[in-house]
Amino acid sequence: MDKKGDRHIAYFTMEIGFDPRVPTYSGGLGVLAGDTLKSCADLKIPLVGVTLLHRNGYFYQKIDEQGNQIEIPVKWSVDDFMVLLPNKISVSIEGRTVWVQAWQYRLRGQTGHEIPMYFLDTDIPDNSEWDRKLTSSLYGGDKWYRLAQEVVLGIGGLRMLESLGHETIRRYHMNEGHSALLTLELLRKFEGEHQEEKVRELCVFTTHTPVPAGHDKFPADFVKRMLGDLPGDGHVMKNNELNMTLLALHFSRYINGVAKKHGEVSREMFPEYPIDSITNGVHSATWVCECMAGLFEKYTPGWKLDPFTLRHAVEIPEEELWQAHQTAKRQLLDYVNRETNAGMDKDIFTIGFARRATPYKRADLLFHDIGRLQDIASKFNRIQVIYAGKAHRNDELGKQLIKEIYQLRDKIPNVSIAYLENYDMDIAKLLVAGVDVWLNTPKRPMEASGTSGMKAAHNGVPHFSTLDGWWIEGHNEGITGWSIGSEDKNVPSNDDRDSADMYKKLEEDILPAYQDKDVWAKIMKNVISFNASFFNTHRMVQQYVLKAYFE
Ligand SMILES: *Cc1c(COP(=O)(O)O)cnc(C)c1O
Repeated sequence: MDKKGDRHIAYFTMEIGFDPRVPTYSGGLGVLAGDTLKSCADLKIPLVGVTLLHRNGYFYQKIDEQGNQIEIPVKWSVDDFMVLLPNKISVSIEGRTVWVQAWQYRLRGQTGHEIPMYFLDTDIPDNSEWDRKLTSSLYGGDKWYRLAQEVVLGIGGLRMLESLGHETIRRYHMNEGHSALLTLELLRKFEGEHQEEKVRELCVFTTHTPVPAGHDKFPADFVKRMLGDLPGDGHVMKNNELNMTLLALHFSRYINGVAKKHGEVSREMFPEYPIDSITNGVHSATWVCECMAGLFEKYTPGWKLDPFTLRHAVEIPEEELWQAHQTAKRQLLDYVNRETNAGMDKDIFTIGFARRATPYKRADLLFHDIGRLQDIASKFNRIQVIYAGKAHRNDELGKQLIKEIYQLRDKIPNVSIAYLENYDMDIAKLLVAGVDVWLNTPKRPMEASGTSGMKAAHNGVPHFSTLDGWWIEGHNEGITGWSIGSEDKNVPSNDDRDSADMYKKLEEDILPAYQDKDVWAKIMKNVISFNASFFNTHRMVQQYVLKAYFE
């Protein structure tokens, strides 16, 4: 397996979540990268992964009595998982030489094929104190820190692959713009004629966010101080700044957004570029809970290696599916009660909402009209809502949202609320399988794709969401879940209108359906058959192979 010449694609990502014990991810982007590489391993794609080590992870989230988020560095044992390689390369930052080493992790697929992943690390005694911390903290620090990390990832990553003997790479896949400096390193290698075309021949780029703040930009003078003069200047700097997204767009032969709608939005944002779309997925075998997996083995055998097989989930007997869901729900509620003392009951309808806490995701939309929510809850006995999610350390409004929801616990009669600390892959897996409905309320068109709803779908949990991102493609009213707000995807979101629609659907469609477990189990089967069979990374990776890797 160690024949380096067999590897043709290098996948670059700032974060990756592939094992809950390895905290090198913050959220959706990283978990997607992990799921992608797992499917590449299962499908025997000749690929290698490159990322940073993040010795302190993103952060461990505590929430105090008042609902304030406290961020703690994550401690983990790198050498329990990875092996330090002897190779060292260097990059230049502010004129200093910064040494970079790499840890290797072998991601083994279900078929036995392995994907080598390289975790770059600058914590080497030869480096200055500041430089030694460059690969410590994911999305930590200031602009200097971020750009320095991007130098290590893009330029350092390319040099490391070369040093490791990967000479046959013919596609560099940039998962988001963080690694775009690799294009400059390629430019340097192709000094002379048709330099740009040669770089473009090698690069593909996936953009992940329609939110302008999600695109890294650095002022030109600042970049010059950090990196000196850049090659290919005219195209690299635009409007006197280095924009990582524009850099990646300019040097890529294939560019895509992560859902059909996100492709459209990206084409509007960057009209000079041909932007396609490949809709995201999740790794089926990772996200199906144990009790559901047992049922799938029985009724849709072969699903782990060929998730299309999940189309046959419609054949699962309702009673068995209902019981499997009850088991998942019990496991979740036991955890919630143990952690938060919320006293949740498995016979009560339970809503789940977990994602990064940031204003456009509107975690508080459910509480827009508390009286109305309370009336609905009383009419149907009671409602339980489980929240989780971290706010980025500089996102004050996101932190405010956590606090607001935290303080509503025990305040609304007949509505039990819990906010779980430290949302991570383990908690995500418990939540997406154990709740009855997965709620998502982004302001459109801000949600590029969203993937947690796909994880819920893999466990038969219907989605209740604004029509944005992947849900525009997965939504079939009353069959795979329910929409929130206008069905016309071009109508902008509005809190009053959207929450009114949400309450109406809860009262008239969702809670009545939940009263009849046969009706509910049929919906659950549709969710698996229609959505899990399609919104998985096996299908997604096959599209990348056809459109981006081997085209
Ligand atoms: C899947 C996942 C996400 C992404 O969820 P979205 O619906 O895309 O916001 C974030 N964090 C964790 C821990 C996840 O597992």
